[in-house]
Amino acid sequence: MSAPTANLTFGNGSKSSFPTGLFINNQFVPASDGKTFAVVNPSDGKEIAQVAEASAKDIDIAVKAARKAFNESWGLSVPGFKRGALLMKLAELIEKNADELAAIESLDNGKAFSIAKAFDITEVAANLRYYGGWADKNMGQTIEVDPGKFHYLRHEPIGVCGQIIPWNFPALMFAWKLGPALATGNTIVLKTAEQTPLSALRMCQLIVEAGFPPGVVNVVSGFGAVAGAAISQHMDIDKVAFTGSTLVGRTIMKAAASTNLKKVTLELGGKSPNIVFADADLDQAVGWAAFGIMFNAGECCCAGSRVYVEESIYEKFMEKMEAKVKAIKTGDAFKSDSFVGPLVSSLQMSRVMEYIESGKKEGAKVLTGGGRHGKEGYFVEPTIFTDVNPDSKIGREEIFGPVVVIHKFKDQGDLIKQANDSVYGLAAAVFSRDVTRAIDTAHKLNAGTVWVNCYNQLNPQVPFGGYKQSGIGRELGQAALANYTNQKSVHINLHAPTPM
Ligand code: NAD
Repeated sequence: MSAPTANLTFGNGSKSSFPTGLFINNQFVPASDGKTFAVVNPSDGKEIAQVAEASAKDIDIAVKAARKAFNESWGLSVPGFKRGALLMKLAELIEKNADELAAIESLDNGKAFSIAKAFDITEVAANLRYYGGWADKNMGQTIEVDPGKFHYLRHEPIGVCGQIIPWNFPALMFAWKLGPALATGNTIVLKTAEQTPLSALRMCQLIVEAGFPPGVVNVVSGFGAVAGAAISQHMDIDKVAFTGSTLVGRTIMKAAASTNLKKVTLELGGKSPNIVFADADLDQAVGWAAFGIMFNAGECCCAGSRVYVEESIYEKFMEKMEAKVKAIKTGDAFKSDSFVGPLVSSLQMSRVMEYIESGKKEGAKVLTGGGRHGKEGYFVEPTIFTDVNPDSKIGREEIFGPVVVIHKFKDQGDLIKQANDSVYGLAAAVFSRDVTRAIDTAHKLNAGTVWVNCYNQLNPQVPFGGYKQSGIGRELGQAALANYTNQKSVHINLHAPTPM
């Protein structure tokens, strides 16, 4: 039995072939029970490849490989600068193969090819390079107490890390997880989302080419209830990092709590408020508000899905926002003018359509959109709802599609109350020309990230993560290193008296 292979032909005429087995010990192997599953193109619903489907047994095999590598060829036995050099090399190989990786990402997820190349794949390389730079700079601390003793703190890798990623930014989430974990000396068993396993598998070939030792990175394709659950329950995984729904985040935390108390970090959902004060530059605010929700077809954990507009400019804002959203091109990933692609799966499209129908039933007004786009594939029209009851389903829940609800507010006090009235706290934005008001509002919002006069700006250097039910821990920036290290305090007796 050999591992399956993907033979892809892209909408721009180019092609790619690569193995789609389970990537364990730097080799692509079939699942131990030989199972595979189909991956489909969300633009037309047709199968594009078969990939190996991991069972709990395969997760166990991958964990053993990761443990062996941690003990023998990675972890504390490889100096930081060597780990950093490998991450830099991987970043370079990703840039060299950017066209192919962007095409794989577009075909698999549905996002526009031009955006996949300019944003997703560019950021993959930037993230790996950024953490490559940290690999030999994760310094400890010396601590002065009294002259008879010397104390220091060092950061050690945690061990084998289980990582479970979603389908909205398949390649980028792969890099967000790999970068800090590898820089700090951990080994990895990463499960991709069942909808979008392909770009990570192609990057696994680059991991071998870059020279990472076998077993350092293991990547498995498979389903959440089987492979994902096996990771979160595994007794020899020291830490699990998850990005996805709040519902599954809870399951993962419970599994960790009832097994080996593995450390848990979670990056979950959001219902992020995007706030426009009357003194904002209106065209700027409209442009970013449309981008804030329609980027990646709204399949963004930090999407600006609740817009709040100050009463006095509401009518003017709505007129411009409606025109802006109506002008957005929805279409196949490989059409050069597409901005909103299909949703990732038939299931995701049905979920979003159910939200739209529930909004209509609960009395909200559709300003534009409100239906499926086209007959083929999983496209949904960019949709604006107004007159939304904040307690309705579309007012409260994460829709995760190109659907925005727009509310009015009277003044800053009223706004803060409305904006913070959510179980989530991932992101927010404020549009105002008054710097004092913008900063004051930013500080009053319960959100892990606040953008002022912009939206959806994520940089490898700046931490990202949630307040409230949007998550635990921070990704990106120096902060992410703490998620992947244990701190060890060492006390040394220089000449303190012996107590007895
Ligand atoms: P999900 O949370 O079910 O899936 C994300 C990842 O978790 C996938 O790899 C999946 O296989 C895995 N998973 C699922 N069940 C698991 C389990 N029991 N144990 C371990 N891993 C498991 O997300 P979904 O069902 O694909 O989408 C549902 C909703 O989640 C979306 O509508 C959206 O609101 C939200 N979502 C959020 C993000 C984010 O970036 N925060 C990403 C994707 C989806």
